[in-house]
Amino acid sequence: MTVRVPAKVNLQLSVGPLRDDGYHDLVNVFHAVSLTDEVTAVPSERLHISVEAAPRSRVDVAGVPTGRGNLAARAALLVAARLGVEPQAALRIRKAIPVAGGMAGGSADAAAALVACARLWDDREDPLLGRAELLELAAELGSDVPFALVGGTAVGLGRGERLTPALTRGTFHWVFALAEGGLSTPAVYDECDRLRAARGERPRSPKVSEELMTALATGDAKGLGGALTNDLQPAALLLKPALRRTLAAGRDLGALGALVSGSGPTCAFLAESDEHAADLEAGLDAAGVAAALVRAHGPVSGATII
Ligand code: ATP
Repeated sequence: MTVRVPAKVNLQLSVGPLRDDGYHDLVNVFHAVSLTDEVTAVPSERLHISVEAAPRSRVDVAGVPTGRGNLAARAALLVAARLGVEPQAALRIRKAIPVAGGMAGGSADAAAALVACARLWDDREDPLLGRAELLELAAELGSDVPFALVGGTAVGLGRGERLTPALTRGTFHWVFALAEGGLSTPAVYDECDRLRAARGERPRSPKVSEELMTALATGDAKGLGGALTNDLQPAALLLKPALRRTLAAGRDLGALGALVSGSGPTCAFLAESDEHAADLEAGLDAAGVAAALVRAHGPVSGATII
């Protein structure tokens, strides 16, 4: 059972005040792109996880846990517990999504493992774990996991897990600049809180950007480029100052929009067309501002059995 699952880029990431439970209230507009991981589940006596870089991708998988610390393993255990079966599967994870890159690769693998294991261990015509149940399990695993199941473009409220699909038209073309090494998401949120406190900023409850929604609904790439925002970007740039040069290079090369993806350090550049994306990619390559470059389009569907 092989499931393909997309990375996400956040088109809007607005971080509200810190809540009593330690999370922030977010407005998180997720967009699934054609940069994908694959998770294959095969029957096995016990749960086993292996992780490899996808062919031709230059993802460094050295830091990805292969035990129960892997989010895909946690997903498999959750499915087994819910079905009342032993977690008898070997999961092979092929990664093209950068690790700790701000593109929710771990969450994507968890979503793929949910779908793969649910299908592997329950082949009833009317499966016990339908879409609604899988979405519930996904939300238990993490705020970004439900979106990896549904894909497309969606507005996430709360911690990001309460999803509503966003109306979009056409296809958007992207270039992603991968960085050497990753950034820890909690460290970036902490830095964001620290920066705000130092500046005496009191964040208000975030709102969905009308400008962004209109650009998506009308397929207006220029409008979308101008409406991209990420409240975590200043913190990510402080933690990895080299990203300033990466973003500036993309803007100089005519990207319609340039921003840090989620908690970074991957940078996302919006292009007018696939050809423009190819030019941007070549320009960024020549500028030497990225460890690797990937072209992708969105929106694409969420975790899909192939
Ligand atoms: P997000 O965008 O959701 O903040 P991210 O893309 O920055 O996440 P991930 O690649 O999801 O970061 O991984 C963050 C950490 O989670 C890794 O450093 C790794 O230790 C751990 N991890 C657990 N399972 C996985 C997995 N299947 N793939 C990648 N990392 C995983």
